Amino acid sequence: MARLDRWRREDRAVAPDALRTNVQRAAFLGFVVAAMNVLHLVWLLADRPTPDAPTAVLTWHKWLCVAHASMGASMLLGGMAAWWVRRRRDPGLLGVLVTWWLAIQGLSHAVAITVIDQWVTSNITPYTLGTLAIAVLVLLPPRPAAYLFLAHYALYAVAIALPQDDGVLLLSNRLQGLGNTVVAWALAAILWRNFATITLQRRELLQAHEALRARHREVEELTRHDPLTGALNRTGFHERVAPLLHQGQREGTPFSLLILDIDHFKAINDTWGHPAGDEVLRALTQRMRTRLRSSDVLARFGGEEFLVFLPGTGRSGALALAELLREDVGTLEVPWEEERVTFSLSVGVASSEAGQRRSFEELYRDADRALYAAKSSGRNREVHADTLPPSSLDGDLREPVAMGAHGPGAGSTSGTSQP
Ligand code: GH3
Ligand code: MG
Ligand code: MG
Repeated sequence: MARLDRWRREDRAVAPDALRTNVQRAAFLGFVVAAMNVLHLVWLLADRPTPDAPTAVLTWHKWLCVAHASMGASMLLGGMAAWWVRRRRDPGLLGVLVTWWLAIQGLSHAVAITVIDQWVTSNITPYTLGTLAIAVLVLLPPRPAAYLFLAHYALYAVAIALPQDDGVLLLSNRLQGLGNTVVAWALAAILWRNFATITLQRRELLQAHEALRARHREVEELTRHDPLTGALNRTGFHERVAPLLHQGQREGTPFSLLILDIDHFKAINDTWGHPAGDEVLRALTQRMRTRLRSSDVLARFGGEEFLVFLPGTGRSGALALAELLREDVGTLEVPWEEERVTFSLSVGVASSEAGQRRSFEELYRDADRALYAAKSSGRNREVHADTLPPSSLDGDLREPVAMGAHGPGAGSTSGTSQP
């Protein structure tokens, strides 16, 4: 019982898919069956019995022509209707009508041909083929399929007596017809169940695939963003900056790099605790975002260290932005418990002016040195690398900072550079 209930639920769930499949098949089969009927008709007309042939043969020939002509015309109509709705996601009532049209036309035609054949032969091949063909070609749930096949068997069992007066042959054909009907119905039911199972499995597979793709996108996002602030991380930064940098180098347009470092961030952690420090990092990121252009690239590179790449911006623009950011952040009050945390920023700036086509590594090293200078000269200020005396660029105590040298949480370089 539980299995029957499940099957019924599944039957309902796949009904729209079955309808679409039936309509698509009907759009094809309608024309094929119509063409077959025309062929039969042409053959029958070309090979007419002579007028002195037995009456039974003449009757058989006449009605067979009528049956093929009417079947050809009706299948053509059904095929055209199916063609009309075949691309619709929901073929609607017309789709249902086309499906039943195909099934009923197929079976009633099989009955008609078989009955007409009885004038000249006792075999019931058209009925056998017709029932099997409909079982294979039209997807119907077992219950309506049973009604359909039984109704046509009843029609067959009654109509076959019209031209046949041999009682034994009649009984034999009725029994054979019943066997055919049951086999055809069983075949239809098995094919329906397979269709339902495969359709549902495919649906599940598609859903799982979609979920996996969504998860994959999420993971991809995570690999490019810092989870605390939502800013890009190193990977995301380099991916976004690479094409902008290449464009600037190729076209010789200016571009700049800012390194921003919170002053005495360790003291914030020590005074209010790490969660307060985290909140400061989030608030700072949000505030900076409101000040940047959509083409500027902001990333969190280390603990409290941020980078901003500015495409199309030279020395003066970069310095102006650094000042704006620093002053703006200076007014920021981050609420924490009953208090408000304030802090300042030091900014190192380096630029590639129009035509200079500098490498990222150079810019990064210079901006880092400028940051170091900003820290050593009192913090809460921005320094452009161009303003540093050559000795400060050449004779730096520290190793040059290579790309990728700071891992997240690796700590600030500026801490080590305080006087
Ligand atoms: P300076 O003005 O020279 O930059 O001093 P500073 O205290 O800002 O720099 P320092 O490098 O001495 O300290 C940086 C601190 O940032 C130490 C580290 O515990 C903290 N930190 C790094 N990552 C995080 C984080 O994700 N959250 C919090 N709350 N603190 C962090
Ligand atoms: Mg710091
Ligand atoms: Mg630092």
